[in-house]
Amino acid sequence: MRVAMIGTGYVGLVSGACFSEFGVHVACVDKDAGKIERLKRGEIPIYEPGLDDLVARNVAAGRLSFTMDLNEAMQGVDAVFIAVGTPTRRGDGHADLSYVFGAAEEIAANLDRYTVVVTKSTVPVGTGREVEAIIRRVRPDFAPGADFDVASNPEFLREGSAIGDFMRPDRVVIGATSDRAGEVMRRLYRPLYLIETPIVVTSLETAELTKYAANTFLAAKITFINEIADLCEKVGADVHDVARGIGLDGRIGRKFLHPGPGYGGSCFPKDTLALVRTAQQMGSPLRIIETVVDINDKRKKQMAERIIAACGGVVDGKTIGVLGVTFKPNTDDMRDSPAIDIIAALQAAGAHVRAFDPAGMAEAAKLLPGVEWTEDAYAALDGASCMAILTEWNEFRALDLKRVKTLLKRPVMIDLRNIYNPGDMAKAGFSYSSIGRPAHP
Ligand code: NAD
Repeated sequence: MRVAMIGTGYVGLVSGACFSEFGVHVACVDKDAGKIERLKRGEIPIYEPGLDDLVARNVAAGRLSFTMDLNEAMQGVDAVFIAVGTPTRRGDGHADLSYVFGAAEEIAANLDRYTVVVTKSTVPVGTGREVEAIIRRVRPDFAPGADFDVASNPEFLREGSAIGDFMRPDRVVIGATSDRAGEVMRRLYRPLYLIETPIVVTSLETAELTKYAANTFLAAKITFINEIADLCEKVGADVHDVARGIGLDGRIGRKFLHPGPGYGGSCFPKDTLALVRTAQQMGSPLRIIETVVDINDKRKKQMAERIIAACGGVVDGKTIGVLGVTFKPNTDDMRDSPAIDIIAALQAAGAHVRAFDPAGMAEAAKLLPGVEWTEDAYAALDGASCMAILTEWNEFRALDLKRVKTLLKRPVMIDLRNIYNPGDMAKAGFSYSSIGRPAHP
């Protein structure tokens, strides 16, 4: 089989590389000349574990290629995937669909055989029908049902474990408008039948909504445990034990019950907001998700206040050492990372922020002016009045605490990811605060 993948970002590049690993011929297209040049040179423009080997192997096998020319990419394809960004539209919180619709027009101009046009981007209900309408407008020569069908195939991979998620997904969701399109999609995902991945075949609208329902549910789950964590602090309970106690109940499940500074990243913030707007527009508001969005926004400011309080209530003129700025480990993605709001609030309170992140500093430097970036974790802590862990990178889990103590002016650690144990930290002589766990006496 042969497919074209439009957009070589976190989703398009991973999906394209994984399909090629399945034996499909994949041409990845992007408008960003820099990205395509780097990919052609064998460089990977994003940080995603394992992606470099996967791409190199499939390029060498002649199954994976990169181009800026959509016409060339669409030669002889069975399907073309739209995997472009759908960021929040400025001003109103709706998803910005201009990249998706732009791609649809370009696809229309290049269709020359029966092709399934698949939306992999996360898009509001109704977008697939609009993509179809755009293609029909550009190509009135097609009779209905002839030459193309649209399909929805939302992606559920997580940055940082994207390849494993794509290769061994919990399920694949396919919204198809015809049996013919459904059959092409099934053939593409055939390798997953061997590992008995459930394939959920639905209507276009159902597939589109399923993706938003999944992300907003997970955002609500995180927000729930964050609020329970705050309550734990007030009543002297331990949120990790509460999470285990409820998570072992199969109806609840153990995942996504880890408290922290609030969800961030390129998906949850924009997708919660977009679904809230869709629901309001349809006259069927999702009041739970509206509240989740509100709580999560406020939480980031509260996290800065927590750091300031742990530093003695005043940070004006003080240096704060920050470890981790990406929204989670194993990615360089800084989109909507809680660290952006937290660091900006610390700076607004007069603090000087010195920070280190293993992969995110190049992106973060564009978003966080005034931060002093360091070569390693220890350099960020040298001479700081206190330290805060904002991302749970593995390399921060086993710091040399004796060395950290000698570097900090006062041994104060605020651990917003709960990667240390309060008892151990008390023994090591730290004034340690974390989320939802009683301070050790
Ligand atoms: P991204 O910003 O990393 O990549 C999008 C790419 O599309 C960019 O390289 C851009 O240059 C390119 N592009 C835009 N218009 C184009 C066009 N007309 N032709 C060719 N290239 C074009 O985005 P992403 O993080 O990969 O997300 C893509 C979609 O997948 C979004 O809708 C997102 O919500 C969804 N999604 C993302 C994740 C994730 O973890 N990042 C997970 C699941 C779903």
